[in-house]
Amino acid sequence: MKAEIIAVGTELLLGDIVNTNAQYIARRLADIGIFVYHQTVVGDNPDRVKKAYEIAFNRADIVITTGGLGPTKDDLTKEIAAEYFQKKLQLDEASLEAMKEYLLRRNHPITEGNKKQAYFPEGAIIVKNDNGTAPGCIIEEDKKTMILLPGPPREMIPMLESQVLPYLSQYQEGTLVSKVLRICGIGESAMEELIEDIMEKQSNPTIAPYAKEGEVILRITAKAQDEDEAEKLIFPVEEQLRSRLQNYIYGEGEVSLEEVVGKMLIDHKLTIATAESCSGGLLAAKIINYPGISSVFMEGVITYSNEAKIQRLGVKPETLQTYGAVSRETAGEMAAGVAKMGNTDIGISITGIAGPTGGTAEKPVGLIYAGLSIKGKLHTKELFFKGDRQKLRNFAATQTLCWLRQ
Ligand code: ATP
Ligand code: MG
Repeated sequence: MKAEIIAVGTELLLGDIVNTNAQYIARRLADIGIFVYHQTVVGDNPDRVKKAYEIAFNRADIVITTGGLGPTKDDLTKEIAAEYFQKKLQLDEASLEAMKEYLLRRNHPITEGNKKQAYFPEGAIIVKNDNGTAPGCIIEEDKKTMILLPGPPREMIPMLESQVLPYLSQYQEGTLVSKVLRICGIGESAMEELIEDIMEKQSNPTIAPYAKEGEVILRITAKAQDEDEAEKLIFPVEEQLRSRLQNYIYGEGEVSLEEVVGKMLIDHKLTIATAESCSGGLLAAKIINYPGISSVFMEGVITYSNEAKIQRLGVKPETLQTYGAVSRETAGEMAAGVAKMGNTDIGISITGIAGPTGGTAEKPVGLIYAGLSIKGKLHTKELFFKGDRQKLRNFAATQTLCWLRQ
């Protein structure tokens, strides 16, 4: 079964809103083994919407639209679908009643426009909407299936989940099982190089890597008759990937790096303090994301100026003078200093050049040093990142957190 998603709305074309509906629907269809071969965006223009339907049904069996089910004149998706399938629009009493009730509860009078929302192409299956006035519908004709859903995600998503996906599961062939491995401490392309041969050999399961906020996510997806068979397909491939990537894999499934690090610190009863410069507290914020961390996280300081590094952390003025604020030496003294001030087992530090200005040939924007003092033993690390200030701060915090885990 091939599916196509058509998002209707001029504001999508203008770039005023992001087409999150298409993303959501595509992902959920993939989960049940229906593949989306095309996604289209079209404005609220009757001729172009109709043309989009024609093109879509030339290449897909299932077409799902979002948007244009509202009460106003420019909401035309359903009317054009009726025209496309040459069906009359017919009042659905149950939908009208449900809409009246919905509006009454909110003290809104029913408008002529609302009434239009209770009309559907003859023979359509109604998709109820508990969060708005626009029900959707499913039209089936000559092996073509068209599914019309409203634009607002808070209406569309529950309708998709509770009614459309169960309906579509009749077309599902076999089952798809995915396993997610979470990786940090290595970039996406470096990781791909490590596992290139494994990826190339695989067609079932498939291996899909993608980078997300300083981490890499590997999704292994198997298609099989049932879950047991899928797991048997995934297992040997997962073993190969694990032996190749070893220590870079920090978890699987929905777990987060903060959670893994937080658990580790608590389990080993390791107290910690942070000292940050360019990351501006982001490392501390990430650590604190994990509930229960209060038993080990003692304090975090943002020592942005040289002065603060000297006074709060005891960084030596000579160190700053000789090596600069962004250096291995300073990072090391920051980490040792904060562990001492906070009287903790671990002190961890970040100092770097976040840009966009302030870089030199010797110390370019994106150069970061991290320091880690564990029970008096000092380690330092050099990191480099290309990207904007916000991303760099996040990168520095994520990589340092990842380092802590190792
Ligand atoms: P309404 O009854 O609100 O008019 P509708 O079904 O006619 O609903 P649209 O008018 O196309 O839908 O869009 C309404 C709102 O829904 C948009 O302003 C936008 O916030 C959101 N929306 C529409 N399409 C999308 C999309 N593809 N992705 C994410 N959000 C969307
Ligand atoms: Mg609308």
